[in-house]
Amino acid sequence: MTETVARAGALEATALDELREGFRGQVIEPGSAEYDESRTIFNGMFERRPATILRPAGAADVIRAVGLARLSGLPLAIRGGGHSVAGFSMCDGGIVVDMRGLKGIRVDPNKKTARAQAGVNWGEFDRETQAFGLATTGGRVTTTGVPGFTLGSGSGWLERKHGFAADNLISADIVTADGEVVTATEDENAELLWGLRGGGGNFGVVTEMEFQLHEVQQIVYGGLAAFDPAQSHEVISMWRDISDDAPEALGWAVASVTLPPEPFVPKEWQGRRVIAIAGQFAGDLEEAEKLMKPLRGLKPIVDLWQPMPYLTVQALLDPGNPYGARAYWRAYNVGGLDEKAIDLFIERAATIPSPLTAFVILGLGGAISRVGENDTPLSGRNEPFNVHLNAIWETAADDDENIAWVRETTTAFEPHTTPGMALNFTTEITTADIEDSFGDKLQRLRKLKSTYDPTNVFRLNQNIPPA
Ligand SMILES: Cc1cc2nc3c(=O)[nH]c(=O)nc-3n(C[C@H](O)[C@H](O)[C@H](O)COP(=O)(O)OP(=O)(O)OC[C@H]3O[C@@H](n4cnc5c(N)ncnc54)[C@H](O)[C@@H]3O)c2cc1C
Repeated sequence: MTETVARAGALEATALDELREGFRGQVIEPGSAEYDESRTIFNGMFERRPATILRPAGAADVIRAVGLARLSGLPLAIRGGGHSVAGFSMCDGGIVVDMRGLKGIRVDPNKKTARAQAGVNWGEFDRETQAFGLATTGGRVTTTGVPGFTLGSGSGWLERKHGFAADNLISADIVTADGEVVTATEDENAELLWGLRGGGGNFGVVTEMEFQLHEVQQIVYGGLAAFDPAQSHEVISMWRDISDDAPEALGWAVASVTLPPEPFVPKEWQGRRVIAIAGQFAGDLEEAEKLMKPLRGLKPIVDLWQPMPYLTVQALLDPGNPYGARAYWRAYNVGGLDEKAIDLFIERAATIPSPLTAFVILGLGGAISRVGENDTPLSGRNEPFNVHLNAIWETAADDDENIAWVRETTTAFEPHTTPGMALNFTTEITTADIEDSFGDKLQRLRKLKSTYDPTNVFRLNQNIPPA
């Protein structure tokens, strides 16, 4: 593409015509039938109208798309699963590279590895790997995109046994800002692979990723149990005590959530907020029964914990996370759950404005903490818990109230929080958040950013400024 057809700051018709000529994938423009569907992302707060949406059919198309962005100077957003709660995968007036056309997955059962193209989501990935009795740590909602999730840590139910998705990333193919295709492995461009294991979408467009897989039985012990919120203190304390020395096969969370109007929920509890425990035990099923026994003694209102397919557990939270609702999220590490922290959680749960909001404490430890602090850009690996404020609501009129709940809860939790939280769960990311998340490793990331993207073409992300 020539510089004359894509002038700085504008996308001229001739530039698009020229791009179309060599483009194998789809070019979706305002007014076309697919435009509105294609610009919808998870967070309904970001209703944006890009100048064009490019859906590549391969790396050559991605090179052309990046070239168009570089020459025009227009904002460039990368869209995978569309789950960015910060709205990074959609932009106004710019170019969106929508990776959803790239769906190839190849499992190598002998090496226990899988290669996935960048449009694959975790539901698709898990389905293919489970056909071989294998899996790696993946998203807790099936529609989350594989690269976006992995580039920002990748926290899933298997993480205490097998680490974050980023820890299982063996190699990646990436189109850099100057349109080169680079492969990053432990032996080739190793520093880039280091950066991709948690440094976000800062270094280019990932076209394919390769993961280490693990044997994961097709039937695990998983589910959700819900208790009367009046028992919150007892439930959270027991959950914490079991978590303290639980086997690494256990990945779970305790959360304040609203029960849906489903047949498995007693009528009088439908639509009411409860304290729930959800997750899975990917190990011996009898051991799982034993672990759950004391919690069952607290007489849950709903108890769905049972042997079930791994693929079912991976989809359990899908219904509570519809696309298009409004979302304002924040998450942080907490160093421990003493009585004060538990009381604070219960107090703040009682003030949640929207029934769709989930207020979650996630148990960590195990394999996550065995990876060295400098082995990836991710920090806070020794913290025992994360707190997630996943505020979701339906109408713009309720924005202020819901955002205020997240901000006030964040302030209230400050005495208990510790630095180093990954930023994939945060809607509003400040410079201080970037410093807090990466700590000492920020300088190393900035140097890497200067090597691969010195002019910050890839800036719609948890942005690392070039050194
Ligand atoms: C309902 C829901 C559930 C979630 N559950 C979890 C969870 O269990 N664990 C967890 O760790 N996180 C979870 N997240 C957070 C999620 O991992 C991040 O939002 C992640 O960025 C989503 O990736 P995506 O492809 O779906 O999103 P997109 O919005 O499509 O992409 C987000 C960003 O990732 C980067 N990116 C995506 N694809 C590429 C690519 N091919 N090349 C370079 N950069 C790319 C870009 O910066 C892009 O802006 C969840 C989010 C939601 C909304």
